[in-house]
Amino acid sequence: MQDHVTPRRVVILGGGFAGLFAARALRHSPVAVTVVDRRAHHLFQPLLYQCASGILSEGQIAQPLRAVLRRHHNVSCVLAEATDVDVKARMVHAQGPEGGVLRLPYDDLIVAVGLRQSYFGHDDFAAHAPGMKTLDDALGIRRRIYRAFEMAETAADDRERQQWLTFALVGGGPTGVELAGQIREIAGHTLDREFQKIDPARARVLLFEGSDAVLGAFGPRLARRAARTLQSLGVELHLGTLVTDIDAHGLTVQDHDGTTTRFEARTVLWTAGVDAPPIAAALARATGATQDRAGRIAVEPDLTIPGHPEIHVTGDVMSLNRLPGLAEVAMQSGAYAGRVVRHAVEGRAKKPNPFKYWDLGSAAYISRGRAVVKVGPLHLSGTIGWLAWLFVHLAFLTGFRSRLGAVLSWSVAFATSSRRERAFTMSDVDAPAGPGFGQKTPPPPP
Ligand SMILES: Cc1cc2nc3c(=O)[nH]c(=O)nc-3n(C[C@H](O)[C@H](O)[C@H](O)COP(=O)(O)OP(=O)(O)OC[C@H]3O[C@@H](n4cnc5c(N)ncnc54)[C@H](O)[C@@H]3O)c2cc1C
Repeated sequence: MQDHVTPRRVVILGGGFAGLFAARALRHSPVAVTVVDRRAHHLFQPLLYQCASGILSEGQIAQPLRAVLRRHHNVSCVLAEATDVDVKARMVHAQGPEGGVLRLPYDDLIVAVGLRQSYFGHDDFAAHAPGMKTLDDALGIRRRIYRAFEMAETAADDRERQQWLTFALVGGGPTGVELAGQIREIAGHTLDREFQKIDPARARVLLFEGSDAVLGAFGPRLARRAARTLQSLGVELHLGTLVTDIDAHGLTVQDHDGTTTRFEARTVLWTAGVDAPPIAAALARATGATQDRAGRIAVEPDLTIPGHPEIHVTGDVMSLNRLPGLAEVAMQSGAYAGRVVRHAVEGRAKKPNPFKYWDLGSAAYISRGRAVVKVGPLHLSGTIGWLAWLFVHLAFLTGFRSRLGAVLSWSVAFATSSRRERAFTMSDVDAPAGPGFGQKTPPPPP
């Protein structure tokens, strides 16, 4: 007996890499696909740091989901946040931007909601040390970086000036390394001769990492090279340190032997941990699926939840064979889930082969002309690594116009050290204590 309506309804939660590739795999199938995302755009997360540091614009790394999927005639997009799944009724519960409740029935559900920033139980750190997962995060970080130099220029005294000229990054993975390199480049080159009272080149960039290496996942050789490159740029590495406190004026860290040290810095950025969004826990409760420590959902080799062949989990939020949280894993798993649904719709009798990830390597950009790339046994660094990085990112950037725009922006940035996207707004969201430009002086207490 058929247990679904015609056309079969496929709901995809999340329009990141995994969700997008699932939708693409279903493009020519007689199914009705609904992509639900709490943002209206598809975001190229690996280049967030270039938006944050002013090389690329937000439009170059984020495309409206509707525009990306406009030629997929069987796909509709819904701007809403999935909040729960009723597995018996096969219904996704979601909330629209204004709080409206939506009910989305499905025959097949593909979950691709990614991961969010985690503060290892110290959620209070978030107010002083933003993470970088969304476009808003990147624009907020851009504001913090460039505003810090402005604040240093008009600081009341040397101590305050030095606090504004000190940038602390927590986490020595690719994002922390990329941001550290970018801030040193901005300080040393981009802002050259723009200020009268401060010398931006004297800005300190501190990178804190709990393990004994930056870019540990790239293996010891590339990790050592990355560390040397960062140090040659002037980044101060603090390996084997755990951050124990963060406030508006700095952070406290503890090293291996328990010694605690306080560093004054008005800009602290957090890139250290991830966990699953609440919908993953809701789904686990509804299906009995198990979650790992970060909340990722354990899946069968065909990416379904045990006992629920109609629910696939893909991308960063799936837990399978300790696969890393990489864009390529998300793309391949999303495409696989889409194909499995397609084969079922086509009535193919053969069970799909288990999901197999083809490791295409990983890359991290350190500074202009310097990157590290690992593809199987091949380890590239320096200029060759940078060229490989350039090629990979161009190949995967969504949309021809974004690619063209990125090539132009990179050419300008790499040839002249200038950055075209330095504009920032003076939002009061992350303004320092006390009134800033455009903010009203608070009334005196009664
Ligand atoms: C700063 C940064 C740098 C990175 N650099 C690299 C790199 O150099 N190379 C690399 O391979 N990988 C990199 N990654 C990792 C890579 O971006 C991820 O592995 C990839 O984006 C995961 O894809 P995904 O589709 O699983 O999740 P995401 O791309 O995170 O997409 C998830 C989508 O789900 C939506 N969503 C979440 N919850 C809900 C909900 N409840 N309801 C509706 N929608 C929801 C989100 O809005 C989002 O659009 C980087 C990540 C970051 C953050």
